[in-house]
Amino acid sequence: MTRLNAQIPEGPLAEKWTAYRSGCRLVSPSNKRKLDIIVIGTGLAGASAAASLGELGYNVKAFCYQDTPRRAHSIAAQGGINAAKNYPNDGDSIHRLFHDTIKGGDYRAREANVYRLAEVSNSIIDLAVAQGVPFAREYGGLLANRSFGGAQVSRTFYARGQTGQQLLLGAYGALSRQIAAGTVTLYNRRDVLDTVLVDGRARGIIARNLVTGEIERHAAHAVVLASGGYGNVFYLSTNAMGSNVSPAWSAYRKGALFANPSFTQIHPTCIPVHGDFQSKLTLMSESLRNDGRIWVPALKKDVERLRSGEITPADIPESDRDYYLERRYPAFGNLVPRDVASRAAKERCDAGFGVGRTGMAVFLDFKDAIKRKGHDTIEALYGNLFQMYGQIVAEDPYRTPMMIYPAVHYTMGGLWVDYELMTSIPGLYAIGEANFSDHGANRLGASALMQGLADGYFILPATISSYLADEIHTPRIDPASQEFTLAAEAVRDRLNRYLSTGGSRSVDHFHRRLGRIMWDHCGMARNEAGLQQALGLIGELRREYMEDVRVPGRMDRYNPELEKAWRVADFIELGELMARDALMRRESCGGHFREEFQTPEGEAMRNDDEYAYVAAWEAAADGAEPSMQRERLEFNDIKLSQRCYK
Ligand SMILES: Cc1cc2nc3c(=O)[nH]c(=O)nc-3n(C[C@H](O)[C@H](O)[C@H](O)COP(=O)(O)OP(=O)(O)OC[C@H]3O[C@@H](n4cnc5c(N)ncnc54)[C@H](O)[C@@H]3O)c2cc1C
Repeated sequence: MTRLNAQIPEGPLAEKWTAYRSGCRLVSPSNKRKLDIIVIGTGLAGASAAASLGELGYNVKAFCYQDTPRRAHSIAAQGGINAAKNYPNDGDSIHRLFHDTIKGGDYRAREANVYRLAEVSNSIIDLAVAQGVPFAREYGGLLANRSFGGAQVSRTFYARGQTGQQLLLGAYGALSRQIAAGTVTLYNRRDVLDTVLVDGRARGIIARNLVTGEIERHAAHAVVLASGGYGNVFYLSTNAMGSNVSPAWSAYRKGALFANPSFTQIHPTCIPVHGDFQSKLTLMSESLRNDGRIWVPALKKDVERLRSGEITPADIPESDRDYYLERRYPAFGNLVPRDVASRAAKERCDAGFGVGRTGMAVFLDFKDAIKRKGHDTIEALYGNLFQMYGQIVAEDPYRTPMMIYPAVHYTMGGLWVDYELMTSIPGLYAIGEANFSDHGANRLGASALMQGLADGYFILPATISSYLADEIHTPRIDPASQEFTLAAEAVRDRLNRYLSTGGSRSVDHFHRRLGRIMWDHCGMARNEAGLQQALGLIGELRREYMEDVRVPGRMDRYNPELEKAWRVADFIELGELMARDALMRRESCGGHFREEFQTPEGEAMRNDDEYAYVAAWEAAADGAEPSMQRERLEFNDIKLSQRCYK
């Protein structure tokens, strides 16, 4: 059994990272170029890591499945990125950002990692500005900040509603510079399908060339996994259609521990589902909660009249509106964390006060903000989001409130990593959304970009040298070795199995069914009976998939159905682990809401005595049940308390 050791440095919390960096082992410049590093993923985490490692002088090979790193899912990030600069002078500090993040995550994250994240946050902004990222500015020239959920200060830096895209262009610029300098080689249109271990260490990958279908072997001294999150296990999510768990899952199958898999974030402000054959959901950024007020009718009769078209939202007087977040959480109002806002929307809709055709929607209303700040200001702040909403829903959100409902958005779980961001496999690192590290049971808005870039620009480039310092005598890894041959054969066999199943159902058919099971039983609310049922249903689905999936086309050419077949098979296995994890955790915390464990007011009820730990799952050979290890979380600088946003 793998033994967990988070390798947290000794010493006071605020000094750990400085002390670590002052004492960690280094690799000399002349040795760096002899060391190869594979980076899987060129989103914000991967692109920033590959660029930084290349700049340091390592020999980097970067992989992505898109045609260009500029199309990574990170491009979709809208609202902003947090940092503790305290430009608005409203009381922010590194400690406050650390505190808000631990509290927002419902006390299920590691103190040392989160403090380091808050410390590094300011350097990200400096670097991005130096790259030319066009953050919004105040009249006086300072960068502007807006508020996001779970904080009473404004610390979110933004570039309209396109922050991810602008940051990604910055990282892509840095990456391109290294590609031109020859320190980074880019392998685009590659599907990374397996991790190769040699003598227990990560030494390379097996990838499929998505254009030619060729199965390729790539070797390195270390492998960095930056392949993003796995929200698409739910089929419908705000993630890009191609987001998948496969690189991380291949590592799990090879022995890397997978932490807190059931910790999923359901985002409160998405455009509601509108039909059975929809394949993608659209986010309306959390930044909109700065100015939009969330409400439903206070009276059932108005719900009926809205639905029948007898009245419009504007006909409902203020006195008959229920601004339920402002009512329930006066201290934070519409800016409560996402898990709290999502559950509150579900509660109102389940109670029969939901609006829209299905009754599964609430209003996000800008009437007051437009009156207060003016149409032009609102347009300057959120124009592209309003335009997107108008195009999708065919309604003008400047005139009539948006309709929103919670949807799957982000996964806090991921590969278990220690303080150095190394997984339980030596030489295999995980960064960005692919790891479990910093967000506990609920991520605060604008903290994913902060974490991905902190990992990629600053943390991994510092920590990886501790491992590589011992690798300078290891010759270049040979991709012709037996370990690579066996792994490549196993990949080819598995792909051929899908092609030869000859079943009657498409991959999407199974994916949609998996998504339904996950949403119904392992989504916004979970309970023991439902999770047991989910385990049974997923087991059946898995058997059916192996016998009845139909994958047309061939292996040796472009074949998107084959790509999906591999990914959905991994999602089915992951779904089972998520249900198992959610069943094991007999408490509610953050996004993990077990209906059996709630306060009389319907808030999540943690059980710190029994569950203040990270659940790290280890795969077993031959289909046996996975085993779980606990990393106990110690809180020395923050007092554990029931979260309160009232
Ligand atoms: C709509 C939306 C809006 C968001 N807005 C914000 C926001 O305002 N602020 C914030 O902090 N966070 C936001 N987030 C979350 C944030 O965008 C993501 O968590 C973050 O961008 C993930 O970055 P990443 O680099 O870890 O992964 P990604 O950007 O997902 O990149 C993954 C990379 O891995 C590669 N990859 C994946 N699988 C394979 C494979 N099998 N083979 C080869 N390569 C592979 C991909 O090609 C890609 O390059 C938002 C998320 C969504 C969905």
